Amino acid sequence: MNAIEQMQQELQVLKERSNLRALPALTHEGRDVIAGGRRMLNLSSNDYLGLASDRKLREEFLQGLTADSFLPTSSSSRLLTGNFTIYEELEQTLARLFGTEAALVFNSGYHANTGILPAVSDAQTLILADKLVHASLIDGIRLSAARCIRYRHNDMKQLERLLAENHAAYRQVIVVTESIFSMDGDVADLKELVRLKQAYGNVLLYVDEAHAFGARGEQGLGYAEETGCIREIDFLVGTFGKAAASAGAYIACRSTIREYLVNRMRTFIFTTALPPVNIAWSLFIVRKLAGFQERRIHLKNISNILRNTLTEKGYTCPSESYIVPMIVGASSDTILKAEELQRHGFYALPVRPPTVPEGTSRIRFSLTADITEEEIKELIKYIP
Ligand SMILES: *Cc1c(COP(=O)(O)O)cnc(C)c1O
Repeated sequence: MNAIEQMQQELQVLKERSNLRALPALTHEGRDVIAGGRRMLNLSSNDYLGLASDRKLREEFLQGLTADSFLPTSSSSRLLTGNFTIYEELEQTLARLFGTEAALVFNSGYHANTGILPAVSDAQTLILADKLVHASLIDGIRLSAARCIRYRHNDMKQLERLLAENHAAYRQVIVVTESIFSMDGDVADLKELVRLKQAYGNVLLYVDEAHAFGARGEQGLGYAEETGCIREIDFLVGTFGKAAASAGAYIACRSTIREYLVNRMRTFIFTTALPPVNIAWSLFIVRKLAGFQERRIHLKNISNILRNTLTEKGYTCPSESYIVPMIVGASSDTILKAEELQRHGFYALPVRPPTVPEGTSRIRFSLTADITEEEIKELIKYIP
């Protein structure tokens, strides 16, 4: 069998298991998507605050732009000529909001997670990572020289034991977690993680706030803000691609860590910096984040309604956020249920292995603040 035939065979296996993916053909109209000739409410985006579909925001932003300030490319890495002042403005704003010494901006959350861990780890580093961390963190761990042990999802007792048993044998231990987990929508016990970290002098804490930045905390800074843990997190990472309705990512950290990353982080050094106009838009949003508290409260309310309904209908629902999984089990069954919801005008998507463990295929509702309570109640009618 040649290489192409081998690929075809593997694709065929995926298809037989209902796990073959394809890029969906769809167009966007505000909160709706149109796919297969059907107009549906988008229940699958990460636009948690509803900012991406807010035309007024874009109009306001455009008013401040001219041909001189609309810069669609940086033409270079930031270490060469790509370091436009808007970058430093965004970083200083972030550091001020988080109350950290510094912040550094990256091209995406994927760049951040695949770049930071390899940069700061060596063979005398132990990484202890939650079993359910995002693929980008897994890739970062793989690219690093560290030894890694995964602990059971949110199992603080196991983590405590692993720290006690292993910390003395390593120069440093880095505990890696998400704050809100992508697939279950549940949260990490940040306070306990901080407590465990503080028991040792050589433990650092890495928290990925991808799903929380913008949508949690009174200032919209994330779950670390909500739980009062910002100061104790060494690598506080988040993306602008979700609730902040932009692209790019950040770390809020000490100045030494920032300087170290600028010198050592390959996914920061060897890539063209994001377009200045994109950074300007991120800054525009970041400055407004604190003002979106009403949206955050509404989002919380509709999420509660949907979660309570799922629990009442007998689903196990681990979620504590606006990411609300309806765990069905078999992939084929999940696809049918998703299609049924789509027929009723709700664009909900199935999530299957390998994204989630075998036998836990699910419909992943990802709610946004521009969905009304009436729409949630309509959706509930079609949940079996
Ligand atoms: C989406 C996501 C990322 C990647 O962020 P991008 O900016 O989209 O590259 C990283 N971590 C988690 C947990 C995510 O959900």
